[in-house]
Amino acid sequence: MRIARFSIDGNVAFGAVEGDSPPGTTEGLVLDIIKGIPFADFELSGTKVPLSKVRLLPPVLPNKVVAFGRNYAAHAKELGNEVPDTPFAFFKPSTSVIGPGDQIAYPSFSQELHHEAELAVVIGRMCREVPRERVKDVILGYTCANDVTARDVQKREKQWARAKGFDTSCPLGPWVETDVDPSDLTIQCTVNGQQRQLGRTSQMIHSIEDLIVNISEAMTLLPGDVILTGTPEGVGPLNVGDEVAVTIEGIGTLTNKVIKRG
Ligand code: MG
Repeated sequence: MRIARFSIDGNVAFGAVEGDSPPGTTEGLVLDIIKGIPFADFELSGTKVPLSKVRLLPPVLPNKVVAFGRNYAAHAKELGNEVPDTPFAFFKPSTSVIGPGDQIAYPSFSQELHHEAELAVVIGRMCREVPRERVKDVILGYTCANDVTARDVQKREKQWARAKGFDTSCPLGPWVETDVDPSDLTIQCTVNGQQRQLGRTSQMIHSIEDLIVNISEAMTLLPGDVILTGTPEGVGPLNVGDEVAVTIEGIGTLTNKVIKRG
């Protein structure tokens, strides 16, 4: 099931996305409004609205986004970094999250903004110290993410709070897919329609199980929390006016435009 979060007539709701549409478009898609929330038992109301008539929001409002770095060998290498033996994580704050179609605001303190297409894991239930064999039980589903990074700031500041945590630096969406096997999906990033990144989730060094075991050993994960799993090679610049799209096979396409910060 594809679960979207959206606003309609001033209210926020979740809905199951039904129908098919050409890649990157929403034509022909319909939302069946969910009674309740997707983190508990829920029912479909049977009340349907065309997706084109609503505004999609970030599919979840995470309490925290935990992002793992250097989880694809070719990407670690392209930035001159070693591949870490153990996963390493950093945070993107909840205020960095934006939804599909929202604008990425180029920060005033950077001259080198980069895209990083990533598979995002959405946590479905409160958990900690999750054993490897229980990891699948704590996952609600998967969505697309862009770990937008001020690369120049990342290079000159020891902590990445500003470089990777500024407002609008975490586009998520377009929805959460609950029924996809994430182990070998194509992950792609285009800028203005031109391909920049192309990889497969099977190229991850540390698996989704490894990452969730690793982070839940340290902290409680809450429903709606998001885990970013690293980016494949091909990261590169974003400029004001660019349209950046992250597409993951079996999930969908997340598109955002870059604007000058007002
Ligand atoms: Mg990243």
